[in-house]
Amino acid sequence: MGYKNLKALVVNASQEVNYSQEFKDKAIEKMKKAGTHPGSKSLRKWGTVELVDPKNQSGDLPTRNHQSGQFNYADKVNAKALDNYVYQNTGCYSCPIRCSRLSKVENGDYQAEIEGPEYETINSMGPMVDNHDMELIIYANKLCNEYGIDTISTGVIISFAMECHEKGILDDEELSLEWGDKETITELIKKIAFREGLGDLLAEGCYRAAKKIGQGAEELAMHVKKMEIPMQEPRASKAMGLGHATSNRGADHLYGLPTIDLTGNVEVAEKYFSEYMPQILEVYSQKYKPEMLSFTQEYNAISDALGVCKFSTTENFALLPEDIAEGISLLREDLDFDEEELLKAGERIINLERMYNYRHGMTRSADNLPERFLKDSLNIYEVEKDNKLTDKVVVENLKVDLDQMLDIYYQLRGWNQKGVPTEEKLKELDMEELIKDL
Ligand code: SF4
Repeated sequence: MGYKNLKALVVNASQEVNYSQEFKDKAIEKMKKAGTHPGSKSLRKWGTVELVDPKNQSGDLPTRNHQSGQFNYADKVNAKALDNYVYQNTGCYSCPIRCSRLSKVENGDYQAEIEGPEYETINSMGPMVDNHDMELIIYANKLCNEYGIDTISTGVIISFAMECHEKGILDDEELSLEWGDKETITELIKKIAFREGLGDLLAEGCYRAAKKIGQGAEELAMHVKKMEIPMQEPRASKAMGLGHATSNRGADHLYGLPTIDLTGNVEVAEKYFSEYMPQILEVYSQKYKPEMLSFTQEYNAISDALGVCKFSTTENFALLPEDIAEGISLLREDLDFDEEELLKAGERIINLERMYNYRHGMTRSADNLPERFLKDSLNIYEVEKDNKLTDKVVVENLKVDLDQMLDIYYQLRGWNQKGVPTEEKLKELDMEELIKDL
């Protein structure tokens, strides 16, 4: 929208939409199914912040610009810590899951009342910038909301600036830029929003800011296709790493959301990947992750196209592709969709996006991850009951072999090894009109 200088879209409805009674009954049946799934119940009780503790255990909690995947103060930014500020459970209109909550900081320097914060914001304004003050996280979330800037990108950019300072390549006259410095966090959010001082440079995003800073700053810029990487650690979660690298819009956890291994969803893994069991569920292994990702990407493309929240689809598979296909077939009498055709429609969307990127010159080199994940080893340390890390290494030397996963991923997609759809694939998907662009 920014590229097209488009500020907003307004849809003015002029007609009633009439649904059959059969569709309405089916929709209610599926809503009940989505709302009563065990994963949904947990989301309703805790919200996405429930991820902090398990991710800290598994090394998937990005800390200090991905210099670590674990945070020694996780108990200060986890679900229990947030609960001190939550005063109401809430959710999007008509949602049977209701994962959201309202929170409030009533006293002190960081008074704020917001919806959230969600896991992504807690991590980006917490461990990523080495901050364990939950009140500051809530306040930072409020500032970003008011300024209309993304909490993930903003947290990653502040984290990038702090690491540049640590490495001796960035200073500021007014702010310390030290890890965890509260004034640096709150003031940089404002400066980025108003493009003041250092904020003017950082507002460009970490890719462009790093180019201007130079002196090795590019290696500290955590982005894919110039989009800041959300709160997953690719070395600890290989499928998520591949998902970020291959996302057509740049790093985006919701583009692939391959969480079947992370949630240990045996039922879904057995239904769709019985031949790859049990290895596909091993989170630190790369094995069968391209297979998992290409499936979840297709289901996500459909979730996005239909406006179905992914907390009912790919996060926990409360609703399976067959559930959605049933709904479409009842809604549109001219379409008789089954699960296979539904996922094929998702595949068409991914190929269409890929061809758009290709027209803009993007090929395999754009499906990349920062070198840190490919070259620097990540160790995972034991976490004690009080959430403190010990010196005992439980998993060592984790890195991403991205090329190995990309080779398989492109093969599964029916693309060439440059990451571009082939003529055969476009024909198979009834997208012949795009062949001229190859
Ligand atoms: S629609 Fe999704 S994001 Fe909104 S409350 Fe429901 S589960 Fe949460």
